Amino acid sequence: MAEDYRQMWADLGLDLATHDALLGSVSQMYGDVYLSQKNRPKGMEYFDFVISEVHGLRIRELVDAKKEGKKIIGSFCVFVPEEIILALDGVSVGLCAGAEFAFEEAEKFLPRNTCDLIKSAFGFKLARVCPYLEASDLIVGENTCDGKKKSYEQMSTILDNLYIMDIPQMKSDSGKALLKAEYKKFIQRLEELSGKKITPENLKKGIETVNNKRKAMNRIYKLRNANPAPISGLDALLMNQVFFYDNPVRFTDSVNKIADELEERIKDKNGIAPDNAVRILVAGCPMALPNWKVPQIIESSNAVIVGEELCTGDRGHHILTEGNGSSVEDLVNNIVDRYFKIHCAVFTPNPDRLKRIKEMYKEYNADGVIDYNLQFCQPYQVEGGIVESELEKAGIPVLRIATDYSAEDRGQIQTRLEAFIERIKG
Ligand code: SF4
Ligand code: SF4
Repeated sequence: MAEDYRQMWADLGLDLATHDALLGSVSQMYGDVYLSQKNRPKGMEYFDFVISEVHGLRIRELVDAKKEGKKIIGSFCVFVPEEIILALDGVSVGLCAGAEFAFEEAEKFLPRNTCDLIKSAFGFKLARVCPYLEASDLIVGENTCDGKKKSYEQMSTILDNLYIMDIPQMKSDSGKALLKAEYKKFIQRLEELSGKKITPENLKKGIETVNNKRKAMNRIYKLRNANPAPISGLDALLMNQVFFYDNPVRFTDSVNKIADELEERIKDKNGIAPDNAVRILVAGCPMALPNWKVPQIIESSNAVIVGEELCTGDRGHHILTEGNGSSVEDLVNNIVDRYFKIHCAVFTPNPDRLKRIKEMYKEYNADGVIDYNLQFCQPYQVEGGIVESELEKAGIPVLRIATDYSAEDRGQIQTRLEAFIERIKG
């Protein structure tokens, strides 16, 4: 790291020795998975820098923002509206949940058959290795799946700044009314915390900033339908992961520069993979940083990922928030409209997700779909059965992979993937 951040980490309460071990393993993994890729867009150097400073410079920025009176709001889910956080001069950060860390400690609070995303969130807190979590003034837990909902009861015993947001489970009028009531409560809580007031002007500005970030990602996604693919799925996933941490304006500029570069690459037919590479759409559970296992296996098997129907993907940025409206009420309604369209598997029934997977399959000229699930994730695993049968009926090849954060099943996944790729080629 460019600067010695040890005092800052100690002040945040991190366990320095354990944190060193975590940073060492992430940096090693990043070198193996990312820096070994050939012919990456030059603009990805920005993201290499972000990762090299992920617990350094960005945390220094958060600490400085706190000194200026801004509040840091940590969250675990795309249902927490960043527009509202920005409107009240806050900073929104996604919380680490993509690595197997301190699971033994986490299992003192949670049953073993809990998904790794939840266990990881506990592990990072219990091992005191996540500076984003420690820098947060408020941590928002949302009632989505049963695993998260119940684990927040346990989490409240180790966090004194946990705020629970209820989330509907059905796309009904009463479900929408619940979401609106929850977002209004959230505004009230943030107003109390920040001492600031929401206005049509600051809310419009928040909507514009977040929409710009989404539009930049949507530009990248549109360009991924080209053949040969101009960017790897690993690099696109990295952008999606950093989407939740970075300064939104700087992130938007960096992503737009990469989109400009990809346009040139497409003109020059300069791809990251050969034009006969098998094109894969990945659907399912979110892949939080640094969960790169399955994409890496896919892209080292003569295949390229051309889209992600994930919360760390299309589900996080495809839909924009309408910015027109003259009152806070109008703008809150727009925010509710936007978030209510997120097709997370916690909703029942959830036909829009299947529709979107089919649309994406066509938009990105994909050859097959990998339905990626974390073990013990009931919403996505149960819905995976519907996804598989409906896609196969439509003639779309599907492979379902249920895995965790360990490396133990790498060989097995690789073998199944190679057979799937052969099936598609055949
Ligand atoms: S999968 Fe559902 S619960 Fe998980 S982050 Fe996405 S919207 Fe939230
Ligand atoms: S991966 Fe599944 S079980 Fe885990 S937090 Fe997300 S929705 Fe819940």
